[in-house]
Amino acid sequence: MNYICRVCKKTYPIDTDQYKCECGGLFHIEYEKRIIDFEALLFSKEHSVSRYQEVLPFIDKEVTMKEGGTPIISLTPYLMGKGDYFMPTLSFKDRGAVVLVSMMKKLGIKKCAIDSSGNAATSVAAYCTRVGIECDVFVPSHTSDKKITQIEAHGATVHRIEGSREDTGKAVKDFIALNKVYYASHIYNPLFFEGTKTYVYELFEQYNYKLPEIIVVPVGNGTLLIGVSIALKELKEWGYITHYPQVVAVQSSNCAPIYHSWRKKSSHLEIISTSNTVAEGIASAEPPRGDELLEVIYSLNATVVSVSEDDIIEGQDFLAKRGLFVELTSSANYAGYKKFIEEYKEWENKSAVIPLCGAGLKSVH
Ligand SMILES: *Cc1c(COP(=O)(O)O)cnc(C)c1O
Ligand SMILES: [Zn+2]
Repeated sequence: MNYICRVCKKTYPIDTDQYKCECGGLFHIEYEKRIIDFEALLFSKEHSVSRYQEVLPFIDKEVTMKEGGTPIISLTPYLMGKGDYFMPTLSFKDRGAVVLVSMMKKLGIKKCAIDSSGNAATSVAAYCTRVGIECDVFVPSHTSDKKITQIEAHGATVHRIEGSREDTGKAVKDFIALNKVYYASHIYNPLFFEGTKTYVYELFEQYNYKLPEIIVVPVGNGTLLIGVSIALKELKEWGYITHYPQVVAVQSSNCAPIYHSWRKKSSHLEIISTSNTVAEGIASAEPPRGDELLEVIYSLNATVVSVSEDDIIEGQDFLAKRGLFVELTSSANYAGYKKFIEEYKEWENKSAVIPLCGAGLKSVH
């Protein structure tokens, strides 16, 4: 198993202490995968992410908390919500963290640092503490107190950084360079996406070996989007699907660089001015994998929508009235779905799924 640079194709062993290539390119991962045998899985009693361990890099028995295996719940006659906040740390990030931290344990890592808007750090901190890995967490100073309480409960040291999400990213990179600790980044480390891809395998089983016609995903740094695209490409390559479902990527209008670049059909992320949004989890003005996210979007023929603050807040209310209290970052997905079927009416009566990807009590505004 190796990391491989997206740009110059140079390979690095999995125990490298580099988080990107010397040329500046970001890593992908390459390893030998088997084809999932969904028929054999019918007899499996394992319903967590480990259900798919044959096609995952590695899951450690002491690390897993049985994340994954989340239900799909009816919201409207056509729309389902996938309950990804029903996981140990209350967000979809547990899918990625279990794979990343399993490998960190295998490599004998004792100390790590991560930056996030909250949920990824919570998840990495939770999995790390199970196996005694020390964790320093960098968050933007405006991150909700509830998320910080949750991170500290897992024994991580929290550093609140003034300024933008990008300033937080710079602070953690200074810290890892100075202290020589492992960078357990959900954005840079592709092991994370190998976990988030299980979201689609589960959908494929839940929709009776088909996929819903519309798959909505939030996009900040794109860790779910990249996972979804890996799984869709695998399913197609393995002959389980003949075409991709309509993927709809959702951004907040206040912070929508991917939407903006996609509208301009640009292959490079265009830096635009942004402002604060209640959807703090997707507030990434300069996602490090920006160009790659655009490439993924074009290759899947996906559509990008951007949603207003009012629509995000209304979405939270709609879902709460359906019995599901999700955080505002997560209700942006419902807002995005609504916007998509308003703009593209022919999709109104098609089966669709949105991720209910973060619990409401994480952020109360
Ligand atoms: C992390 C997160 C997102 C955004 O994921 P990205 O990887 O930044 O695209 C969306 N919603 C919730 C609840 C999250 O925790
Ligand atoms: Zn390179």
